[in-house]
Amino acid sequence: MSALTIVMYHYVRDLARSRYPGIKGRTIEEFEGQLDYVQRHYTVTTTRAVAEASRGGRPLPPNACVLTFDDGFIDHYTVVVPRLLARGLSGSFYPPAVVANGGRLLDVHKIHFILAATGEHLALADRVIELIDARRRDIDLPTPETLKSEHWRASPVGDRAETAFIKRVLQAALPLAIRSGIVQSLFEERVGVDEAVFARELYMDVGQLRSMVRSGMEIGGHGAEHIWLDQIAADEQRREIAATCAFLAEVHGGVAVDWVMCYPYGAHDETTRRLVADAGAALGLTTEKGIVRDLGAPLWLPRLDTNDLPLRGDAATVAWTIEALNLSGAAPVAAAR
Ligand SMILES: [Zn+2]
Repeated sequence: MSALTIVMYHYVRDLARSRYPGIKGRTIEEFEGQLDYVQRHYTVTTTRAVAEASRGGRPLPPNACVLTFDDGFIDHYTVVVPRLLARGLSGSFYPPAVVANGGRLLDVHKIHFILAATGEHLALADRVIELIDARRRDIDLPTPETLKSEHWRASPVGDRAETAFIKRVLQAALPLAIRSGIVQSLFEERVGVDEAVFARELYMDVGQLRSMVRSGMEIGGHGAEHIWLDQIAADEQRREIAATCAFLAEVHGGVAVDWVMCYPYGAHDETTRRLVADAGAALGLTTEKGIVRDLGAPLWLPRLDTNDLPLRGDAATVAWTIEALNLSGAAPVAAAR
């Protein structure tokens, strides 16, 4: 097959005029420019077409591209969908079930807004360590030295060491109850907006998702609670996946068939892949960086981040596009998970 490029987006908004201009996302102008670029070099297709091709049905068009949007942000409803419709394109959207059902703000997003609320990430990292120390007498936690030696380094997506440290420590390195408590303290301290109000402003609801389905958009699964599935036991994974399916049935008004699982944080293991296959998933999307050269492992598909593609239609063709166009023999740089 010709290569398939799956592009991943998160926030797409008028950043400069938004309440939190420090959020890492795509501006509207950049998004439009990137759509120009994508339309010039690729044929935008759907996950439905990819699933069909993976079963040996109709092959994908040359230089196929699927546009994916994670996390259920309201940006997708207000900014992305109108622009896709204006161009006659379809996109695929992956909201975690709990956010679309209202009231809750995910820790991963609280962290984004805590970081966006202050430019002083060195001081914020010190505050994080203070908050860890304050909890140390109740539970055995790694020392600041251990945490720093393991997590204090710049990230591949361009975060400085202190920013990447805060994200790693608060997203994964500490026990869940401890990091959730610290994230909540920091959210109250730095952002200071009622969680339910903030969540209603940040995420799409089920009614909006249904209207997107009616206009030809695809809605897939992104877990219920947006947790690292490879870090929980099989029965917990099964519950997360069942809740994901129930949510998709609610959105689609009936059992979703050939649905797509977009693993939260890209995290999956053999159990995850078996469980989603048993639950009727046709494709699985990861955050591994790369383009799809064959559909032999449809539950383990790499994606490119929006940052990997140019932001203007007239930009010079980048390596990823050259590969997709089969103009170069170079192997893709597949990052290990
Ligand atoms: Zn996500």
